[in-house]
Amino acid sequence: MLELHNYIAGEWSAPGVELPQQICNANTGEVLLQQRGSTPVQISTAIDAAVKVHREGTWRNLSGDERAAHMLRIGDAIEELIKDIASVDAITTGVPITHTQTLARVCGIAFRTAAKLSRESSSIRRETDFEIERLPLGPAAIIAPWNAPAGIACHKLASALAAGCPVLFKPSEWAPLSGQLITQAISKLDLPRGLFQLIHGDGMTGAALAGDPRVAAVSFTGGLEAGRAVAASCAHQIKPAQLELGGNNPLVILPDADLAPSVDGVVASLTTLNGQWCRALGRLIVHEDLHDDVVETVLHRLNSLVIGDSRDHETEMGPMVHRQHRDHVLAAISDYEQLGGTVHRAGTLPELAGWFLQPTLVTGVAPADALGEIFGPVATVHKFSNTDEAVSLANLAPYGLAAYVFGGQTNAYTVAKQIEAGMVKINSVTLFSPHPDAPRPAWKMSGMGEEGTRETFEFFRGSRVVGAPQGIPASAAAEQLQGTGT
Ligand code: NDP
Repeated sequence: MLELHNYIAGEWSAPGVELPQQICNANTGEVLLQQRGSTPVQISTAIDAAVKVHREGTWRNLSGDERAAHMLRIGDAIEELIKDIASVDAITTGVPITHTQTLARVCGIAFRTAAKLSRESSSIRRETDFEIERLPLGPAAIIAPWNAPAGIACHKLASALAAGCPVLFKPSEWAPLSGQLITQAISKLDLPRGLFQLIHGDGMTGAALAGDPRVAAVSFTGGLEAGRAVAASCAHQIKPAQLELGGNNPLVILPDADLAPSVDGVVASLTTLNGQWCRALGRLIVHEDLHDDVVETVLHRLNSLVIGDSRDHETEMGPMVHRQHRDHVLAAISDYEQLGGTVHRAGTLPELAGWFLQPTLVTGVAPADALGEIFGPVATVHKFSNTDEAVSLANLAPYGLAAYVFGGQTNAYTVAKQIEAGMVKINSVTLFSPHPDAPRPAWKMSGMGEEGTRETFEFFRGSRVVGAPQGIPASAAAEQLQGTGT
């Protein structure tokens, strides 16, 4: 059986708490390793070490160029492990290897991008009688989910380090192995002890990190419930929290949409990362004239989807991450049935003992009963007769992460611009943003503290204005006061 190790203050050690759950191969149910958590002493020792690094200035006082050089070395070290990272993430999360390979490549890219930001983003702007510094906030807790564990973590880790913050990294205990590989790569480099630390554990460990006043900022990706807990402890300490939470994302098919690309979009948004994707389809909102054709064609397409072992390169959809999550998704489908829905399952399951289920559409559920996040390959289908109705259905959910609109360009743009979501894609469903520099915003209960290449980097920095401004003319002072809102 594999084992988990913390990396605290430059030393590897066993996490001191045995957790009740085990991590399995999602394809077969075979037990791989015991989940472990960190003791309060281990967590506190790690935070102390991060505070020490920050106070001593061995990282934060480096120039942008010096930090960039380290970031490139980290990127190189991680790139040597891409195959291993992709492999462990495919086995533990059930996401097909073709996707985990792409996401593993993002890890190295994240460090290269952060190196560029570190080099190019000035940390000081000097005026005649004052200066504005952009300074690292201090020890940062990075709390990552299991669904795309390596890619999501590396974006945050690289941004925090490039900004000058020591990092306390807690991966999800459902998919901790890629985080451990990333840490192994970083631990071989000559970096200050305590700059980068890995602290294994479940929500208790995450909560202890987020709630510790010595931690200056928290970047969290995960579900609403844990996000709320993190937000509450950060609110109590008035410290910055970046929260990327769930969604119940609509895909709208307008009457002038082409059937084939719309169906492609539905299948992709329903099954990418096995539907365990924050931007996955939750509600399919279809014009009444196209409804029956769309449902029938989507189910037909899903019937030929290759559902199988996530390690197989032919597999298009793998299993759910763990048994409880598979059961949660099945229970959500049953709930829809109880609410009067008709369940349409498609696809053939492999003869494997893992946590597989068929992608599913559910028709006939009232829109108001289909607003939560399921986080699996399940979507409800709703009809509309005019675009105002389509927009209000799309905006009904309390979430606002992603949306998709299929239709003629003009109509699709008009509808897209009325949808309350951070990212609205027109006639396309893709795993990544339209451009690496595009922010990845979240509206409503999908999060706060915008994510993005520059946005996440800047999240970890704060400003300090220092100087002895002299003799501001009265008219300029009045203008300034207006700007302050005093
Ligand atoms: P969870 O919220 O269960 O967990 C996320 C992380 O937080 C894990 O490391 C978890 O530990 C930890 N955690 C759990 N409880 C707490 C707590 N009280 N305080 C601090 N940390 C805690 O999410 P999942 O891992 O199940 O991931 C799926 C969710 O993530 C979905 O809702 C999805 O939409 C969202 N997500 C959002 C993205 C976005 O960009 N908006 C991207 C990807 C996912 P452990 O797992 O070890 O228990």
